[in-house]
Amino acid sequence: MNAVRFYGIQDVRFEEIPKPIPNKDEVLIKVMYAGICGSDLHIYHKGMFILHIPETMGHEFAGIIEEAGASVKDWRVGDRVYANPMVPCMVCASCLAKSYNTCEKLSFIGEISQGCFAEYICLPKDKLISIPMEGDLKPYVLCEPLAVALNICRRANFQREDKVAVLGAGPIGLLLMHVLKKIRPVSSVTALDISEERLKMAQKAGADNCVGNAEELADDYDKIVDAAGVETTLKAAVTHTKANGFIYVVSIFEKDFHFPINDIVAKQLSVVGCNVYEKEDLETAVKVIWEGRLKPDFVITHEFPLKEAKEAFSLLAGGEKKASKVVLKP
Ligand SMILES: [Zn+2]
Ligand SMILES: [Zn+2]
Repeated sequence: MNAVRFYGIQDVRFEEIPKPIPNKDEVLIKVMYAGICGSDLHIYHKGMFILHIPETMGHEFAGIIEEAGASVKDWRVGDRVYANPMVPCMVCASCLAKSYNTCEKLSFIGEISQGCFAEYICLPKDKLISIPMEGDLKPYVLCEPLAVALNICRRANFQREDKVAVLGAGPIGLLLMHVLKKIRPVSSVTALDISEERLKMAQKAGADNCVGNAEELADDYDKIVDAAGVETTLKAAVTHTKANGFIYVVSIFEKDFHFPINDIVAKQLSVVGCNVYEKEDLETAVKVIWEGRLKPDFVITHEFPLKEAKEAFSLLAGGEKKASKVVLKP
């Protein structure tokens, strides 16, 4: 089968690898859509997270079961599925407390094992999440990033009176704005991004105000979410959050930097980490798409056949930031 494998920094290759064979507890899934995630870009730029080289990348997908192992009873050939892509260690204190997203050695498919940038993927039956059989399958490729946005909502417990700013209008930022607009209404949402294209998408997502640089932010947000992951945004969050306010950090930072800790003390700010999601967020993501409460596919700006994955990565790696979610079609 065809797959896209990571060989080193900025080196992804489309090549032929053996089609996987499911063991008795696994299913073989035909991948219909696969999304390129921010974390795939951290792999592409810096070689972060990845355990083996070469490795088939990717953890966001929607697909159809093509074959089920002998002990698989609850799933059938033809079922539409995606999967919880987390691979927790199952032995650390977090895992024993069932807090898998804080696992000390948390990894993902596409990093520790074969990912979904391929025609097929084999996964254990207990990782699967059902997608309803009717309607377009494509929006469900966004369940995983949508689950990240839903986890932020649970962490932040947004209230109707909250004035919120979302720094960074990439797929996670946009999906969060959309959730705030459609499911968890707040007083106002301000989007910050340096890209005009992305701010246009933020408007579509439902942002009330859009600003192109940190100086245009007000100084009195109750809650600021950093979904950009650079020094300037996190510093802006400290400056522009109200005293006694909250900063939620969901982005992965590629670099360390000096940080104004004394400002956090003086303003009594709470800085809260938001790491990926829990299984219930993945299930809620399917539900809200299925019920039509969210139409997240506006974040998909480009689709490429699998064999053009190199072009897809180059597009996302470019400085122009015109693309948002890029989807591969095996
Ligand atoms: Zn992802
Ligand atoms: Zn663990």
